[in-house]
Amino acid sequence: MSPIKFCATCRNMLRPIIDDASERLLMCCPSCFYSEDAQQENRQVFSKEFSCESK
Ligand SMILES: [Zn+2]
Repeated sequence: MSPIKFCATCRNMLRPIIDDASERLLMCCPSCFYSEDAQQENRQVFSKEFSCESK
């Protein structure tokens, strides 16, 4: 499950797409075509959860 994210530039809701070239999940803005790596975001969330549990 990935949280809903919004474009930093135009505030539209980002949509998940698969980048065919790199086969990575990206969050892409349909309005201005801003995109970011969704999997990298997920990894950051997981590392936060792990650090909480280890306390
Ligand atoms: Zn945008």
